[in-house]
Amino acid sequence: MSLMTLDEKIGQLNLVGIGFDVTGPIVSENVEEKIKQGQVGAVFNTFTPHAVRKLQKKAIKESRLGIPLLFGYDVIHGHKTIFPMPIALASTWDMDAIEQTARISAIEASADGLNWVFSPMVDICRDPRWGRIAESAGEDAWLGSQIAKAMVRGYQGSDLSDTSTVMACVKHFAMYGAAEAGRDYNTTDMSLQRMHQEYLPPYKAAIDEGVASVMTSFNEINGIPATGNPWLLKDLLRAQWNFNGMVVTDYTSINEMVPHGFVANDAEAAVSAINAGVDMDMVGEAFLNHLKDAVNSRLVSVETINLACRNILEAKYKLGLFDDPYKYANDQRAFAHILSEQFIKASRDIACKSIVLLKNDKQTLPLNADKSIALIGPLAKNKRDLIGNWSAAGDWKQAISVEEGLRTALGNKAKINYAKGANIATNEQMLRRLNQHGGNIEIDDRPSHQMISEAVKVAKQSNLIVAVVGESQGMSGEAASRSSITLPGKQQDLLKALKATGKPLIIVLMNGRPLDLQWENEYADAIIETWYGGTQAGNAIADVLTGKYNPSAKLTVTFPKNIGQIPIFYNHKNTGRPYSGVWQDKYKSRYMDVDNEPLYPFGYGLSYTSYQYSPIRLSDTIVSPNQTINAYITIRNTGAFDGEEVVQLYIRDKVASITRPVKELKNFKKVFLKSGESKEIDFEINVDDLSFYNNDLLYDYEEGQFELFIGTNSRDNKNAAFSAIK
Ligand code: BGC
Repeated sequence: MSLMTLDEKIGQLNLVGIGFDVTGPIVSENVEEKIKQGQVGAVFNTFTPHAVRKLQKKAIKESRLGIPLLFGYDVIHGHKTIFPMPIALASTWDMDAIEQTARISAIEASADGLNWVFSPMVDICRDPRWGRIAESAGEDAWLGSQIAKAMVRGYQGSDLSDTSTVMACVKHFAMYGAAEAGRDYNTTDMSLQRMHQEYLPPYKAAIDEGVASVMTSFNEINGIPATGNPWLLKDLLRAQWNFNGMVVTDYTSINEMVPHGFVANDAEAAVSAINAGVDMDMVGEAFLNHLKDAVNSRLVSVETINLACRNILEAKYKLGLFDDPYKYANDQRAFAHILSEQFIKASRDIACKSIVLLKNDKQTLPLNADKSIALIGPLAKNKRDLIGNWSAAGDWKQAISVEEGLRTALGNKAKINYAKGANIATNEQMLRRLNQHGGNIEIDDRPSHQMISEAVKVAKQSNLIVAVVGESQGMSGEAASRSSITLPGKQQDLLKALKATGKPLIIVLMNGRPLDLQWENEYADAIIETWYGGTQAGNAIADVLTGKYNPSAKLTVTFPKNIGQIPIFYNHKNTGRPYSGVWQDKYKSRYMDVDNEPLYPFGYGLSYTSYQYSPIRLSDTIVSPNQTINAYITIRNTGAFDGEEVVQLYIRDKVASITRPVKELKNFKKVFLKSGESKEIDFEINVDDLSFYNNDLLYDYEEGQFELFIGTNSRDNKNAAFSAIK
């Protein structure tokens, strides 16, 4: 750093986007010239060994000091081998599998020139209207924290300088998922207690696991934009959490502090961001254009610039870029690893684990193979949507459709009769927008009644119906909020007409958020939630439909009965007048027109087999700092299929100095049981499981009575009581 001019230091703080797949209105210009001038520290949206080498060579050979560039990218759920969307990955409740997806992503990305991924996204979200819920692990802070750690381990391994690991970036710091009204980029206003208890833990977990970079969020927090928020970036992140990596902004979020009404212009925005603790400016170039003047007019100190520059250079040292700037661009590794057979197999296995069985009346599923099947719906032959949004360098043409998966699985045993039945949406403006952003949606011009009649005819010729319906991938993700969460377009009309044929109706859902499925839940015979399953989605769906894989996934977000119930989440507080379901009760906390229960609770998911839970047995009834207790429960597989069950443990603190939720997830175990087999599961409970942030934001437990729940989801459990002493 002693060799660097002020301009060169400021240059290191500049992250440019090369110009495809952009997520904002501005694109960096004259990138190659800027690299030569030492005005670029990192590049994103470019990869392949060839393209990376070319730009890296410019930095090394043609800039004055030859400082290597970082190459970042939105590798969110796979690089080229695409795994299920994060909301689906979370539904596996399988930390090893989740870590493996990040590991494989790192191996592929690092062979393809990249050394930095903008993942994990750990924003807690309780509002299905918000499109980015698809990218999240759901609504629970404890589970979200386990997933955040698994992802960081997978990306970064134990040694960042290893050529097959990449720098992870936890985002979006912070509370981005609490956007008011579920509208993207919107305001967050929240008590500090709620932040610490319910929203901040996953970011902290990633930091404790050693994540090397943090991305600030677009939203403001209690009136101060995250990108210009010294409490967030200095007091909390650096001082309290001891983070010593680098902080990057989100896309032009420095400049966006102007329309937020926080600063008057980009120059003030740059000063606010750097003084708040930002190191690197993504795309907006407010730092590049204004920091030198700010230093000259003493609005920013040279020490502040030095600190930011050092954080960025340190990341480059840790990655080993000063030893070999080309180490991440390697044709042989790219050729050997990307989309390897082993990775494709992992994608299929994990997709199977992420599919949630929501309903299965009279054992409609698994399918009886020698039947004729009416395969209906706008997503039945689709490939583009299967790899979901944020599918990075994934090539949707390589995805396996449901039709292909079923044909391979069933061979000649079943006859498959196809009809599209409906377009994915009928809102023309929405369709145009989706296609403008790579939606690839083909619209059938026939009137909807004609498409439905054709589907009904096909259904009548078949023994049962598999209807593949849902949302197009672009209906969730960034800037993709919806104000209605029913199936879009005429898809529900199609389902109603199919139901009227009297044939068994199996719904295969693809979507990036909880939907309002009240009608579907009442009338379909079986429903599977497949989210967007990735490259191997069609094969995985066929594995589940045919019973080759017995579903084990559980929801990590609550599915409401209707949109008016939002926000709805399992770990809510009680009121002074809780509604207990007696409809005659008037003065209770309730709606006139719907009860308070969700359609499917957090942790919910069925299996082709059934599990019986014994009562809970406790080793003792008092927990203290010197004494943990064990809770034992025996699970028996009482059905005809082998299966895996996610056994969930929740705790309620009955009385505390600030009120506590009706229950909170504190542990779980995923257990495999052969048909007829039983196993005793053992959970240890310690004072950490009882601790929370009190009114002074001190993390501790309090003496008193606790309730313990163990069960198959957050609603259906066995319970027991214990107490805690100091
Ligand atoms: C998103 C980030 C993403 C960045 C770079 C932004 O619009 O909010 O999640 O990492 O773009 O593509």
